[in-house]
Amino acid sequence: MPNINVVIPMYNEEAVFAQLVDRLDKLLSNSSFSIEVILVDDGSTDQTPVLMRQLSLKDSRYKSIILSRNFGHQNALSAGLNEVEAEQAVFIIDADLQDPPELLDEFMSYREKGYDVVYAVRENRKENLFKRAAYRAFYRIMDKMSYIKIPIDSGDFSLISRRVVDTLNDMPEESRFLRGMRSWIGFRQIGLPYNRAERQAGESKYSLTKLFKLAFDGIFNFSEIPIKIITTSGLLVILSALAYLTYVVIKKVIFGNVPEGFTGLLFVTILFGGIQLVSLGLIGEYVLRIFFQVKNRPLYIIKERIRSEPIEHVDETLS
Ligand code: UDP
Ligand code: MG
Repeated sequence: MPNINVVIPMYNEEAVFAQLVDRLDKLLSNSSFSIEVILVDDGSTDQTPVLMRQLSLKDSRYKSIILSRNFGHQNALSAGLNEVEAEQAVFIIDADLQDPPELLDEFMSYREKGYDVVYAVRENRKENLFKRAAYRAFYRIMDKMSYIKIPIDSGDFSLISRRVVDTLNDMPEESRFLRGMRSWIGFRQIGLPYNRAERQAGESKYSLTKLFKLAFDGIFNFSEIPIKIITTSGLLVILSALAYLTYVVIKKVIFGNVPEGFTGLLFVTILFGGIQLVSLGLIGEYVLRIFFQVKNRPLYIIKERIRSEPIEHVDETLS
């Protein structure tokens, strides 16, 4: 049984695969812990699963899980977490080496001090301006809106204890925002600053749609503020309508005839049509999540598990 599992979701990562394995190999052979890597293929359409299979068959320190299709980063990560056997800790990193695997020892030193969650906080990002700005804005909005404290600028890159993994695995949430769930769990948590590297090879696998889905899952799973905004603005609208009515009535009593504005009427009608549509949409976001949740579908489907038996000594002449 390993002390530590490293969980890595992979989606079309053939370009960075060799580099990743190279860095992990170094880490595995220099570390004083016994480490097993769990690679999760999230329905890649390139050579990733083939490379994973080759690796797992020849090296018992790497286990591969192949999902039946692309279920998305958070679900792939959940699949990996469900396969964890390590008693001490689980290290979660991305495949593209933006999260340096070499930080394991430093993170483990905090785990040994009794922290259940050691999460990484990005000091600086080496990504394009748009993505940086979008992330910055998102984490700050999230911080204002969510009913639990989700640390700013921390992603999934973290080291978590076995009991945190078990709790995450027991949480049946369908739309998973793992960094939020991780904060929600509690225990002792600490953030460590690090410099986020550039993706070492290949392109980002987070399309704009996927990025927005993640952001929406974060907000609608950890905040009731959007609904509160609707209620509050509804009340404000009613109050202002009443105020306007009073004003018109008083004006009529004092001055007699009041000319009414057609443009104003049209403007208000369109405005409130829009507000109502947005409000319905916001409620829809919650209903949608209830809808998917009650279906109670599995979060992912595993097509195959690949692992080789640990061999202490391989005699080359026999093969
Ligand atoms: N990933 C995944 N499924 C997806 C998209 C991404 O498993 O549908 C993995 C990807 O292989 C990588 C991690 O999630 O290991 C983070 O993706 P990426 O580095 O492309 O995101 P970015 O750093 O650009 O936000
Ligand atoms: Mg990346």
